[in-house]
Amino acid sequence: MNEQNFQSHEIRDRIVIQYKYTMGGQSKFFLELMNNKKILGTKCKKCGKVWMPPRINCSECFADTDWVEMPHTGIIKVSTIVWYTTSAFIQSVPYGIAFIQLDKADTGMLQGIFSENLVPSKVKKGQRVKAVFKKKEDREGKMTDFFFVPEDEYDSWIAKPQYEGGS
Ligand SMILES: [Zn+2]
Repeated sequence: MNEQNFQSHEIRDRIVIQYKYTMGGQSKFFLELMNNKKILGTKCKKCGKVWMPPRINCSECFADTDWVEMPHTGIIKVSTIVWYTTSAFIQSVPYGIAFIQLDKADTGMLQGIFSENLVPSKVKKGQRVKAVFKKKEDREGKMTDFFFVPEDEYDSWIAKPQYEGGS
């Protein structure tokens, strides 16, 4: 074969892979979120630090932790507005993401922030936020089952047909 004149023939195709994965020791967080709209953190049995997102063992002193129910309110510690993302979220652009410290938590969690008026003054550090949940039939036991909104927009978000408030 004359290598210089070689031309490969390529056909575009697609591979679909079905798979499942386990949330392991953190399964309880996702099950309580999906079934009961509870947001669970963990509290260290030794030093008392409250981890949110939950950790099965304390990252400070390595002791076991207990599950604790967290409030649905917190405060933005760091935030930004997202304009480019993957196909899974592109229809929601623009939206905010933030490290949120829930009330009573000692650590921050990364989660989406939606706002009727998505301007930096609404998603900035110090803004108080509250969790809004997808309706039960739409919840899948994933982080996308809920998001946060500025506290003063909470009532209008949970009035939307596709969302509801927590307990
Ligand atoms: Zn500890």
